[in-house]
Amino acid sequence: MNAHVRPRGSEGPPFPPRERLAHLPTPWHPLARLSAALPAAIDIKRDDLSGCLLSGNKIRKLEFVLADALAAGATAVVTCGGAQSNHARATAGAAARLGLRCALLLRGEAPAAPPDGNLFLDELLGAEVRWVDAAGYEDRDARMAALAGELRGRGERPYVIPEGASNEIGAWGYVAMLAELREQEPSFPWRRIVCAMGSGGTHAGLWMGARLLGLDVRVRSYLVQRDRGYFRSQVRTIVERFGRRYGVRAALDPEELEIVAGFEGPAYGAAYAEETVVIREAARAEGIVLDPVYTGKAMTGLLADLRSGALPPGERILFVHTGGIFGLMAQRGEILGPRRSR
Ligand SMILES: *Cc1c(COP(=O)(O)O)cnc(C)c1O
Repeated sequence: MNAHVRPRGSEGPPFPPRERLAHLPTPWHPLARLSAALPAAIDIKRDDLSGCLLSGNKIRKLEFVLADALAAGATAVVTCGGAQSNHARATAGAAARLGLRCALLLRGEAPAAPPDGNLFLDELLGAEVRWVDAAGYEDRDARMAALAGELRGRGERPYVIPEGASNEIGAWGYVAMLAELREQEPSFPWRRIVCAMGSGGTHAGLWMGARLLGLDVRVRSYLVQRDRGYFRSQVRTIVERFGRRYGVRAALDPEELEIVAGFEGPAYGAAYAEETVVIREAARAEGIVLDPVYTGKAMTGLLADLRSGALPPGERILFVHTGGIFGLMAQRGEILGPRRSR
């Protein structure tokens, strides 16, 4: 196992074992037309292009988490998420690639119609799906432990991956992303990185990576569910565990985390009118397909904050496209808006 290798061509931190699953590096490029009427320049990091089934931000985290699972001798993985979870689909795909069984605890109920989007892929990939209602999902860790017990009873050696692969191991995925970006663009012109927040691991990894690599960059996340208090404590927990496990000093003041609420819409996953306008605008101006659950909301928030002056003018901002295209396909009816406006 390639333990403790340094990222290629940099004097960055020693990385833990990593299973190469994503197609990296992902490109970045300016969003010149979308930025034209804005007081800032937005560039985009195309983590939506980190693969097909194994795409988006989850596969970066899973490279480290699944290396840990394999090192522990796992024969099966257990994880959880919403019915259209990108993380569940990426885990199901990666498990199939690595010859592991996969069991998914999904929030919601089995659809009456044939499954769509990510859920269709979960089933195609052979994942075993267990449904749990929203109240039951609050106990997801205990329920995943029970599911792991069941698998053990069937002779498997299960490894439980927390929601979103958002723990201290998965956080390395976004430390590695920053190392990759600095290699792509040694001048590192960005003072602010923007992304969507669903379980907090991407933000925690970026925050940690900026410190480990000595980059002067702020991380700003737009939450898509729950509230700022939940994510402040989530990010702090991941950073603290990271510090303990890998022996790095990381003092985080959770009050300083840039976590923005107000663009999550009426319910988790649901697209709202302003957001569908932004999704259409990004597609038509730039050929970029955002998703309704995460990246559409983060971009809606970023554009609104630039237009309102909530963010200072003149910045060069990097927006991380964290994927989600299969979730978009599951909601295609809502995205085009009234036929008239097309
Ligand atoms: C999971 C997800 C996010 C959120 O990342 P977290 O690390 O869970 O906060 C953002 N965008 C997409 C497309 C995702 O699937």
